[in-house]
This record gives sequence, structure tokens and C-alpha cells, in this order.
Amino acid sequence: MDANVFPVPEAIAKTALIDNAKYLEMYDRSVKDSVGFWAEHGQRIDWIKPYTEVKDVSYDPHDVHIRWFHDGTLNVSANCLDRHLATRGDQTAIIWEGDDPSESENITYRDLHARVCRFANAMKAQGVKKGDRVCIYLPMIPEAAVAMLACARIGAVHSIVFGGFSPDSLSNRIQDSECVMLITSDEGLRGGRKVPLKANADKALETCPSVTSVVVVKRTGGAVAMTEGRDVWYHDVVAAASADCPAEELDAEHPLFILYTSGSTGKPKGVLHTSGGYLVYASMTHQYVFDYKDGDIYWCTADVGWVTGHSYIVYGPLANGATTLMFEGVPNYPSVSRFWDVIDKHQVSIFYTAPTAIRSLMREGEEPVQRTSRKSLRLLGSVGEPINPEAWLWYHRVVGDSRCPIVDTWWQTETGGILITPLPGATALKPGSATRPFFGVVPLLVDAEGNELSGATEGNLCIADSWPGQMRTVYGDHERFVQTYFTTYKGYYFTGDGCRRDEDGYYWITGRVDDVINVSGHRMGTAEVESALVAHPKVAEAAVVGYPHDIKGQGIYAYVTLVAGEEPTEALRKELVGWVRTEIGPIASPDVIQWAPGLPKTRSGKIMRRILRKIAENDFGALGDTSTLADPTVVDDLIDNRPDA
Ligand code: ATP
Ligand code: MG
Repeated sequence: MDANVFPVPEAIAKTALIDNAKYLEMYDRSVKDSVGFWAEHGQRIDWIKPYTEVKDVSYDPHDVHIRWFHDGTLNVSANCLDRHLATRGDQTAIIWEGDDPSESENITYRDLHARVCRFANAMKAQGVKKGDRVCIYLPMIPEAAVAMLACARIGAVHSIVFGGFSPDSLSNRIQDSECVMLITSDEGLRGGRKVPLKANADKALETCPSVTSVVVVKRTGGAVAMTEGRDVWYHDVVAAASADCPAEELDAEHPLFILYTSGSTGKPKGVLHTSGGYLVYASMTHQYVFDYKDGDIYWCTADVGWVTGHSYIVYGPLANGATTLMFEGVPNYPSVSRFWDVIDKHQVSIFYTAPTAIRSLMREGEEPVQRTSRKSLRLLGSVGEPINPEAWLWYHRVVGDSRCPIVDTWWQTETGGILITPLPGATALKPGSATRPFFGVVPLLVDAEGNELSGATEGNLCIADSWPGQMRTVYGDHERFVQTYFTTYKGYYFTGDGCRRDEDGYYWITGRVDDVINVSGHRMGTAEVESALVAHPKVAEAAVVGYPHDIKGQGIYAYVTLVAGEEPTEALRKELVGWVRTEIGPIASPDVIQWAPGLPKTRSGKIMRRILRKIAENDFGALGDTSTLADPTVVDDLIDNRPDA
């Protein structure tokens, strides 16, 4: 059906870790003998006390529990640092690229190990104990990774809050997990602008009595207030600390971190991940999905405030002894060539970013990409939202010079690691499809009643059975965990996403189940209509929602952002409606098109359709939880400029 199939390039096939035969063989074993498979692959990390139990899982709503390797003990930071010292102590662990292109730093495994040990000792000296929660509110500087690994070293549980969040959002998250320490910096630096992190933190802490100590990293040198008896400087406490800090022996199920979801569909959930299974899964997916080998320079552009930063900037790559690039800045500073300049500067071979970044750079045309070399690249990745085929093709042709496979990785904060994805040496690619499940992952599609659907079909995406990286609970609210994921469809983990499976068994995420549109009895995911709009040369981005319609039940309301320099006209509006009609069919043609200079997005860059739905429904009173909205003025603008539907 899809003319566009991209086979595995020969150059990749020659060297890839996994080819198609190997994928099929390993996948088959992973589902038929899940315990045997994971018993073997669990050994990819170092255990202090080896496990004898592999898996103890129940999805029964009366007794949901998930445990992996649970009688084993380990330390995650020792796996990411100590075990590499003998073999690769002088290899670069982290390449740090500052907001300002003149600032960068290479940190070796030996150096990172010493920094982590010192800071772990400093945290202990401040009174932090095993099991305590520690909030990290930092820019993308090496100290963020150091703080994560220092927590892991002593068994403290980190909760990272993205540096773009407001004092209120920070305060809510600290209160929810009752953190005892906050680690922040004087200011952050993004796109040449300063972000007042310490001032935000001070405001947040007015309502956070659990926090008794605050560690402040000096980043910009800007003036900040220090509260006597509570606040200390990072450089002071590490100078006083020893670089010898034995790693704590921890149970496989000891909590590693709490992380709040993006809040696209409602109030963010405090997702809890634990140690052993998470690290096995993060490191294994990092190695196979990115076909990572020694000598690769790997760059994931996410922020450590999101799960992608946890699993694929810090834990997965470092557990694998990789060289991982950490970027403080933004894609359009000092110019829209920044990503490609950084790739050339550090000779990046694997590049992993989000559709929102690709679409925004696409708006700027090809020239800013083409004036860079990018010869070092061999693999591209995408994560966070469905990638529109048009954006996929641009990424492939313009950024990857038609040479690099794209791994479109579907996963969630809840899943800890990638669940549905191509493997570069094994999978023929179809633009817009996350393709096939990773080892041990059993996706299934169900109808509204929970009946499993077979063959080429469309339905609600569930996962049967568990995988080691799965979240264990919603922190402090196990009932919400059970309600959200295990009660809608009995016996399965419910993802909340809609999905199509084609005749080759490839999976296509069609959007959030909450966002499905029903026009005259035809159910439609948002992704397909949006992708049709984005395929028009004048459209940069689009978001589609349903709204009440007298005749059809629901009508289609499309918000459209045009390519830089294009004028919104009545003629173009008509053209776009006709365009969608020919691309998909009359049933999908938009009833309303509203020009949107910007779309409401979460701070992690995802379109928040639930807010767009409220605007389309003319219901501005109850927009729901807007605390994770990146730019609230976008919403006001859309409300003010709403055409009469
Ligand atoms: P919340 O759960 O609070 O509503 P969220 O779901 O946006 O927020 P995340 O865990 O950051 O929070 O995002 C996971 C979701 O992102 C997935 O459920 C899916 O909808 C979307 N997603 C991630 N990667 C992909 C991808 N490659 N293709 C399609 N969708 C993706
Ligand atoms: Mg979600």
C-alpha cells in the first residue's frame, strides 16, 4: 500500500549489530520464553548479588505489581561509571556543548566518576540518606548528570523538574514527592537569554517545608540571594568532599527516580522507575535501536527534564560506555544551523531529536542545513510525537543526505525505554511508522470493548505482558496507577494511544485515544489529517481536533501554521480544504481552518490538543491543567482570533 519503503542501506547492513533474521529470531524467543530471554539479557549490566528471580508481574486490577530481577542487588552509578574505569577511563563520557558556541568541554569517564563521588559525599554531608527524594532543577550542564548519578550512588531518588517550569509547577512537584533537597543553579542560559532558576526556586520553596537544603551551581555568576543555613554553593561543598565514595548496594527494585509526564492529556503523573530492570532495558534499547558501537559520537537533543534525557542521554549511553553529547542550548541560536554546526564540530554519528524541532527547522528551508557538512552522521532518530511523513522525508533527504536510516521510536515516560521502533540493520522503513516492537514487547490493538483485533486493523494500543523498564507505580498514588493503565482493558497495559497495524505488521501511531474524531460514524486519528495538511508546501505545522457538529456529530477543526513568509488568505483556506479532500477523502476535509501563528505545546514540545478542543468547542472557561503549557500567550491569541465556527 505505501509506495515509500526505504530498505536497509547497504553500508548499514554490513556493520549493524542486528539484521532482520537475527531480529526475528531474537524477537520470537523474547516472547515465547520471556523469562529465559531476560534472564540472559539481564546480565548485560553488573550485579553485586546476582538475581535468581527474573519476573514477578500481575496486571490484575486487585493486585497490580511489577518486579524484575528482584532478589538481585546492584548500583546504577557503578554500572555507568566504575565498571568502565579499567577499560575506558580516559574515553570521553560526556561532550558538553554550551549555549554559546564558544563553550564546550569533554569529560572522561575517570573525571565524571570523581565528580560524582565528590558530589555524592557532599550530599551525604548535607544529610541526604538512602530513599530520600532530591529535586534537580538545573539547566543542561554537566552537573545535572553528576547530580543524577550521585543520587543513584547513595540510593537517593531524584525527581528532575525541567528548568523551563515556573515556581508553581516546581513547588507542586516538590510537594508531591516530599523532596528534602533541591539542586539548582544561579541562572540558566538558553538561546542567549538568562533564566532565573534560583529566584524561581526561592519562590517555590516558600511552600515546600520538606526541603531543608539547597545546593546552588554557579553557572552565569548572576547575583542571587542565599538563605543562611539552607543554601550552599556547589563548588564549596564539592571542594570539601572526598573523591572516594563507595557505591551503595541496592535492591533491584530500589527506586531510582520519579519523573512527571508531559501533561499533554491531563494533570502530570509522577512516574516511578526502579533500578535493575530500568537499567537493563535503557542500556539494551540504546545499544540496539541506535546500533551503538565504540567510536560513535551519540547526541540526543532532549532535556534531562524529560524521560528521553534520563534514558538516552544519561543512563542508557553511560551504562554502555558510550560518548554522549549534552547540549545546553536551543536549535535556533545563534542561528537555525546550530544543530548541524554542532554535528560537524563534534563529528556526531548518531542524532536523536523530536518532530517539533524538525518541523520548526523545516520552516526555515534547506539552505541552513545545506551549508553544513553532516558527513559524520550515519543514523537519525525521532521521538515524542508521530512524525508526519513530510517531515520524515525532509529529515531523511535534507539532514541525512538520503544516507541515514531514521529510527522513529515510540515510547512513553511510563515505559522507561523505547517499545516500538525500527532497528537500523533489520527494518525497512516507512515514513511515519514506528514499525515493529522491540524485544520482549507484545503490542496489541483492541476495540472499545477490549476485544483483541487481528491482522491489518486499527484500534487502541495496549501492551500484553511486562518488560523490565516498565514504571512500577504512580508515586504516592498506586490507585491512580491501577486506574489509569490497568482497568480500561483487563489484563493489558493501556497506553492511551490509538494505532493502526498494516499488512506488514507495522505499527502507525494515529494520535491520542482521547483525541479520536468521529465524523458521521467514521473514526479518525488526528495524525493522518495533520500529516495531510503538513504535506502541503505552504503548511509548516497543523493540529486537528473534533468539535460538535449538528449533522455529522463531530466536525473537523484544523489549526494551521504556515511556512515562514506565507500569507493566510481565503484562497489558501479553500485550497487546503480541497487538498485534504484529495489526499484522504471528503470525510476528512476540515470544516474550519484557523490560522495559528503558534500552537499550544507542552514544555517538552508536544501539541496539546485538549486545549485546542476547548477552543474549538467555544469553551474557554475550563481549559484544564495548563501548568505544563510552554507559552500561554499562544492560547490567548487563538481564543481572540477564533473564526465563527
Ligand atoms: P501525559 O501522559 O501527561 O498526558 P504525555 O503522554 O505527552 O503526557 P510523555 O510520556 O512525555 O507524556 O509522552 C508519551 C506520548 O508521546 C506517547 O503516549 C505518544 O502519544 C507520544 N509519542 C512518543 N513518541 C512517539 C512516536 N515516535 N510516535 C508517535 N507518538 C509518540
Ligand atoms: Mg501519556
